[in-house]
Amino acid sequence: MADGPITYAELAGYPLTAIAALAAKAPAVRDKLAEWGIESVLDLLTTYPRRHIDRSKERTIRDLLPDDQAMVVATVARISSRRTRGRPPKVLVTAEVGDGSGFLRVNFFNQGWRERQLPPGTQAVFFGKVDTFQGRKQMSNPVVDLIGDQTGRIISLYPQSDKPRISSLDVESWVHAALAKTRKRTIAEPLPPDIVKRLGLAHRDEALWGFHRPETMRDIEVARRRLAFDELLRVQLALVLRKRALERTAKGIVHDTSGELVARFLDALAFPLTGAQRRVIDEIVADLGGPHPMHRLLQGDVGAGKTVVAVAALLTAVQGGHQGALMAPTEVLAEQHFLGVRALLADLRVPGDAEAGSLFEGMAEERPLRVELLTNRTTAANRRKLAEALRTGEVDLLIGTHALIEDAVAFRSLGVVVIDEQHRFGVEQRAALRDKGAEGATPDVLVMTATPIPRTAAMTVYGDLDVSILDELPPGRTPIETRWVQTAAGEDDPEAEAPVWDHVRAEVAAGRQAYVVCPLVEGSDKLEVRSAEETLERLTGGELHDLRLGLLHGRMSSFDKEATMAAFRRRELDVLVATTVIEVGVDVPNATVMVVLDADRFGIAQLHQLRGRVGRGAHESTCWLVGAGATPDGEARLEALVRTTDGFELAEVDLDLRGEGTLMGERQKGRNDLQLASLRRDWEWVVKAREVAFELVERDPDLHRFPELVSEIGLFLGEDEADFLLKS
Ligand code: ADP
Ligand code: MG
Repeated sequence: MADGPITYAELAGYPLTAIAALAAKAPAVRDKLAEWGIESVLDLLTTYPRRHIDRSKERTIRDLLPDDQAMVVATVARISSRRTRGRPPKVLVTAEVGDGSGFLRVNFFNQGWRERQLPPGTQAVFFGKVDTFQGRKQMSNPVVDLIGDQTGRIISLYPQSDKPRISSLDVESWVHAALAKTRKRTIAEPLPPDIVKRLGLAHRDEALWGFHRPETMRDIEVARRRLAFDELLRVQLALVLRKRALERTAKGIVHDTSGELVARFLDALAFPLTGAQRRVIDEIVADLGGPHPMHRLLQGDVGAGKTVVAVAALLTAVQGGHQGALMAPTEVLAEQHFLGVRALLADLRVPGDAEAGSLFEGMAEERPLRVELLTNRTTAANRRKLAEALRTGEVDLLIGTHALIEDAVAFRSLGVVVIDEQHRFGVEQRAALRDKGAEGATPDVLVMTATPIPRTAAMTVYGDLDVSILDELPPGRTPIETRWVQTAAGEDDPEAEAPVWDHVRAEVAAGRQAYVVCPLVEGSDKLEVRSAEETLERLTGGELHDLRLGLLHGRMSSFDKEATMAAFRRRELDVLVATTVIEVGVDVPNATVMVVLDADRFGIAQLHQLRGRVGRGAHESTCWLVGAGATPDGEARLEALVRTTDGFELAEVDLDLRGEGTLMGERQKGRNDLQLASLRRDWEWVVKAREVAFELVERDPDLHRFPELVSEIGLFLGEDEADFLLKS
């Protein structure tokens, strides 16, 4: 072990004190590093520069022209701060910096701490736009990087800290010391050489040197690609191994896919299936008829008709004598699904089983399908009754929140589980489903996403699932026009809103109906209800006083909600003032206007869902987004919705705005290994990493020949992940 190339596993075994310069530091320094997640020599070597500065791009102050975006390396000659006279007053820090060719004034507004950061004599990189003021060149609020008096063409900037003082240069010197220790033995290459060659990747040893100590900017790109690929490959390998492990170990249910119930259901629909629905139902039915438990992701834009597909899957379980469950992330959504699914199945009867009939009294007869709802609001008494009916198999379909997979809920034989809105459904919940089927079998799982996610993100976040895509909307939909009404920030703005209410009245006059979604109040149902009531009051007393308005919110009883929805459907109400309860399930083709108030409070996905409540009939529909768009993100969200109705495109924008961390974080519990790789910029490499992962597992299902790759999954993605993969 002590002479071949050094593996990551070996590097992970050396504490920071193995670096002499670090061992000599006060413990506070190592504590700080530990806080950053740097505890071993491996951690140090995979602490990458957050930026590289190419000094060949450096300009001299003398040659700067107004309006240039430029970088200068200069030394602070003087610095001072004062309050400006405007209202409100601002702190203005002004520095005079020079590089030998001339002087430049640098202004910082409301960054009082710059005075401490840049005492006279400090050398720093200033990057920003040049302008002139009273005949002198200056930069305002430039990006500043402290570099000390470094020479060399490319400067690597590492994380820094004020207390205890850790400079980029410190980190760099420790990294270099660590690299130097590996020089003789070199760092091991965990990938088979043919793959490295085929993909045109740098050797790992070369990549680590190239990224930390580049000689050219090209070195950095070559190195980054290799190190980013490693990150992507680890995630993909973990996912592919997980998928294989589940396939190998879990016992599935072979469903009866030729029964009559699903056919009856589809025949009874008021419309023919779209081609995409037919294709996806076939994919699902093929899984259900097979011996392995299904783990499939169903992606489809709002209104693509996922419900019908989900119900077909659930009924496949029922027709073979099993039960189905549909899980939603919130109680309100569960109730909506319950109402929707029950309506779809209203007249459906389960065919009798002639053969069983001779054995069991009563089974030969047709019977109605029994669908029940279980949420935290279900009373204890009802819950007990329900539990009994589930245990005996009298309930065919159960709809509910996560409550329904908790261990107290015992099914007679759970065959298919559909999970809506996967974001909040993790690996643990999936594990909880194991053994809920008959005789210890694992039920089949279909995960539905209400919001499409970009393909490469799906590959990474849901890479252990098979994917079906509903990429066709049912015919007869009319495109929705979306308009953003920009209101003054932080106040009522009746003038700006006027065209919205004019339009609502005009549509109602033409026989159509409208929704008004009230401002979102995060974290408080109660306040949200109040905001809905206030909106109702305001509109009844004002802009919409001559229309019939109804109110719908999550705190109403199911009964009241149903009654209100029914009245709206019967056109006894013109306008439904609602909270986000109408995000799913609400389906009234005559409604042609959606007004979302304070729209910039909502996320892209949610707005897209809400908008999907209109445009369901033959009439032209409009979605009004009312909001200030006061933050750059808020503005970008609203603009994106105005620009496109394509859910996949919106998903890309969302990923851009929210960052990839959030996406990964939801599933990987913060163990986001993607430091250098970007799911957007590197999407081609996501695909390649996935191919390589499948190829490696194909070559060697347990990866016995690639022990380093397996150990790296543990090192970077956590031991739990590795344990799971190796154990099963
Ligand atoms: P999603 O859940 O994918 O947003 P839904 O399942 O709620 O979409 O379906 C949206 C609407 O389209 C519902 O009114 C549904 O009845 C209708 N629908 C579904 N499939 C078809 C189809 N093949 N042809 C016509 N209408 C359909
Ligand atoms: Mg739906």
